[in-house]
Amino acid sequence: MQDIAIILVRTWHPGNIGSAARAMKNMGLTKLRLVAPHFGIDDQAQSMAAGAIDILEQVEVFDTLQEAIADRQTVIGTSARIRGQRVPQLNPKQAANTALEQAPAAIVFGGERSGLTNEDLALCHFQVAIDGNPDYPVLNLAQAVQILCYELFNAQQTSPDFDRQEDPYPLVKELEVFYQRLEGALAETDYMKGHERDEILKQRLRQYFRRSRPTRRELSLLQGVVSALTEK
Ligand code: SAH
Repeated sequence: MQDIAIILVRTWHPGNIGSAARAMKNMGLTKLRLVAPHFGIDDQAQSMAAGAIDILEQVEVFDTLQEAIADRQTVIGTSARIRGQRVPQLNPKQAANTALEQAPAAIVFGGERSGLTNEDLALCHFQVAIDGNPDYPVLNLAQAVQILCYELFNAQQTSPDFDRQEDPYPLVKELEVFYQRLEGALAETDYMKGHERDEILKQRLRQYFRRSRPTRRELSLLQGVVSALTEK
């Protein structure tokens, strides 16, 4: 459970940060991260956290989601309504199992007003929606955190020894090193010409690798391919 981070992106109500901390502690999670919160931790947050003040004290704050997930292997985004077809969908139980199997992982939640943007979701390997009334499936942020944390707790109770993966996925920051090498190599060719279109190409390549999810061994292979081609 120490390998699972709960990330809240651009929250508005400090009370929800406190409630999320409490929901986490109740279920045995400790790692809370905030990305660009509109308002930081205040009295309201502390009051809602109640006995989970320690989690607020250890909170880590980041400017961007990309930085908050750098040390993660698996990133799961939450949204009341599934958006975009490209990211595999999980239910909360499957999300909990996946996070524990493919840890270090993060479960990412959006702010109260606009949730996660498409750019945020593009950084996720999976999307999870909590089923509810189709006329109003949007839960309060901290209550959505509670449900996912409860599923993590249950998954951990049922199979406490998640196998260490034989060939795990690389961390987000390790893939970033690869993308930059690949882009550097492409910049030397005519393929990238310094146009605006290059940014779109770069995003598409990243999207492709995020979806195909090379393992660590496959990533070394790809690194080797880039090295061999650049030497030539
Ligand atoms: N107005 C926003 C909702 C934000 S609710 C929107 O329409 O997208 C705040 C956050 O709680 C969401 O970004 C999501 O992370 C989580 N959440 C709320 N309801 C959810 C549900 N049914 N399934 C999964 N996550 C949910």
